[in-house]
Amino acid sequence: MTKNIVILPGDGIGPEIMAQAEKTLKKIGERFGHQFKTSYHLIGGAAIDACNTPLPQETVDACKQADAVLLGAVGGPKWDAIEKSIRPERGLLAIRKELGLFANLRPAKLFPELKDACCLRPDIVGQGLDVMVIRELTGGAYFGTPKGQEVRDGERVAYNNMIYSESEIRRIAKVGFETARKRGKKLCSVDKANVLDVSQLWREVVLEVAKDYPDVELTHMYVDNAAMQLVRNPGQFDTIVTENLFGDILSDEAAVITGSIGMLPSASLGASGPGLYEPIHGSAPDIAGKDLANPLATILSVAMMLRYQFAMVQEAQVIEDAVSAILQEGYRTGDIMEPGKTQVGCAKMGDLVAERL
Ligand code: NAD
Repeated sequence: MTKNIVILPGDGIGPEIMAQAEKTLKKIGERFGHQFKTSYHLIGGAAIDACNTPLPQETVDACKQADAVLLGAVGGPKWDAIEKSIRPERGLLAIRKELGLFANLRPAKLFPELKDACCLRPDIVGQGLDVMVIRELTGGAYFGTPKGQEVRDGERVAYNNMIYSESEIRRIAKVGFETARKRGKKLCSVDKANVLDVSQLWREVVLEVAKDYPDVELTHMYVDNAAMQLVRNPGQFDTIVTENLFGDILSDEAAVITGSIGMLPSASLGASGPGLYEPIHGSAPDIAGKDLANPLATILSVAMMLRYQFAMVQEAQVIEDAVSAILQEGYRTGDIMEPGKTQVGCAKMGDLVAERL
């Protein structure tokens, strides 16, 4: 198979981690007979420096024509003082919008080799932690109108509107069921249906969609309980689907439990066309250019791209197994270093995974 992949390194550690993603792609291509054609384009601070905008049109066009997009990270202190509307992060929001990416998939997986990094007691984590949080990305309170701030009865009031149409709920629910079907066949829909009208519609539509997925076990949970259950008994969850604001919070909570921000990939998908695959961490300006970054979240993002965009399930599994094997052999970047292990830099970690492949 031939696939065109746009690489957006962005800022900070972005270029370093993307170089390791390239090594992985090259090896997978050789081993499985695929051709991955990569092209590099600007986003974030790097784009501001070169073209005075965080998302040049040329980048948008390239992404739309690609089969998938791999992103490093954007932002850094250099661009913190510039006007909000052209900040690096705007580039990220804009490319998500341009590509119509409404579903954000964030697996929070605790590798057994890194269990000491987990911030929960060993008896709570038990056999391990492997939760997929699916967050709706383009609706809800973050985008709903009317919104704003005004003066009423002599005091300031501010408001946002958590609004969802049934088509928006239906399409994210489908992603939830489809993803659960490829995993443990258990989907937990998180809402606040005891209080919010929007959540009542959410639940009704999720129940309608469930009729097409009799093989997936569906449960519902209120968001406050879900936040609690994630730290009390995370092993009960397989796949979670929820709206934008709840998902923002729960996906961060699930991620932080694993204790290793440098290990967590993500995927943002639309109805069709290229998805965006990126590590969940930022541009880590404090360690940029020092060969200290952990490239594994990026390498695991490549695995997600192969699995979810190209249905290359075996190829994805091979990458995930290689990462496990390298950890088992005791190799660690600085962020996940423990006594008795071997510390390596970003480039060496990329080489080790590539050699394994
Ligand atoms: P960050 O994720 O960049 O860094 C937080 C901490 O984790 C830092 O100590 C960093 O060194 C460490 N870290 C992050 N990734 C690592 C990796 N791969 N290997 C080893 N250590 C790693 O978050 P921050 O410091 O809050 O933000 C820095 C910049 O990144 C800001 O400009 C922020 O806006 C931006 N940011 C971008 C994204 C994105 O592009 N998706 C996400 C979050 C933050």
